[in-house]
Amino acid sequence: SGKFFVGGNWKCNGTKDSISKLVTELNSAALESDVDVVVAPPFVYIDQVKSSLSDRIEIAAQNCWVGKGGAFTGEISVEQIQDLGCKWVVLGHSERRHVIGEDDQFIGKKAAYALSQGVGVIACIGELLEEREAGKTFDVCFKQLKAYADAVSSWDNIVVAYEPVWAIGTGKVASPEQAQEVHLAVREWLSKNVSAEVSSKTRIIYGGSVNGGNCAELAKKEDIDGFLVGGASLKGPEFATIINSVT
Ligand code: 13P
Repeated sequence: SGKFFVGGNWKCNGTKDSISKLVTELNSAALESDVDVVVAPPFVYIDQVKSSLSDRIEIAAQNCWVGKGGAFTGEISVEQIQDLGCKWVVLGHSERRHVIGEDDQFIGKKAAYALSQGVGVIACIGELLEEREAGKTFDVCFKQLKAYADAVSSWDNIVVAYEPVWAIGTGKVASPEQAQEVHLAVREWLSKNVSAEVSSKTRIIYGGSVNGGNCAELAKKEDIDGFLVGGASLKGPEFATIINSVT
């Protein structure tokens, strides 16, 4: 449902030189036209990427402050990322939840503020391995979804990214069936708890060890509307292969 959406999350990687090389690769790649493509560079390189990357690809920030800017040392506001040309922000990433300690309510507040300023939200959710093994995958994902739903007033500018934590950076990609099962459950949750329209229109993308070799099988699944790619998005040709896996 909706246009295929592929995001590249560069995380805390890159230098001016490596990013210049990656931008050159992306600018020369042949990309399917019917796909929304977004990259999320580290804050400090957003300006460099914005001024050198083709307008074909939109830019996301990897995080933002929870409200209006001011006396918040070390933070970056929504107004600032927007000033640099970001159309999107990634929120609720597992590395921010589990490494940095952000909770559902804080993430929900960030989402609501970004949306209120016209910045789209790539809203991440996903369970830990022990939660999956305990049969709690749906409970965890629904609780995280509910925190977004409780905080926001519109889903028009939200893409949901299902990223099982055990699949992130591990090389252990979810099987197409495992991903589809959760994506369908998310869609049903949206239908029941938000609206049928939001359920059918919202893109639900998968992230966690997606690469040029496994993307095509995942992309075939009914409720997989795109990808959020970490490691493989740092290689231009491989990221292009993932973008072009749209079916
Ligand atoms: P990897 O593709 O490196 O597993 O990372 C996925 C991710 O966290 C994207 O946000």
